Amino acid sequence: MQNHNRSRWEREDVERKTQWAVSRMQEGAKIALARLMDPDKKKRLEESYCVVCYYEGPTLAGQAMTDVNCRLCDTILHFSSTDTHELCQACAIKNKLCKDCGASVNLKVLRKFPFEK
Ligand SMILES: [Zn+2]
Ligand SMILES: [Zn+2]
Repeated sequence: MQNHNRSRWEREDVERKTQWAVSRMQEGAKIALARLMDPDKKKRLEESYCVVCYYEGPTLAGQAMTDVNCRLCDTILHFSSTDTHELCQACAIKNKLCKDCGASVNLKVLRKFPFEK
């Protein structure tokens, strides 16, 4: 049983938290709008990201060099954080998948993907 004796909530706390809530709301709306409008579609598809991963707010990833294998061709991929990708660029492009999360890049599941034999 932990018992925290928390300080009285002050006007400054309300101001600080309100500012924080407003910025979260604006950030959320901006991201949602970008995902719907897809303003960088060409670049996004060149880099093989789905809309969700491409228009993402800052992620909280650990700062540690991370090597992972591409989940299709096993090429080793190097990342400077623990926020790694599922696929290498080549496999992602070839299969029309998001290299980051592995979803279909157009968010549509094809009847057959090239990687399926
Ligand atoms: Zn690959
Ligand atoms: Zn994705």
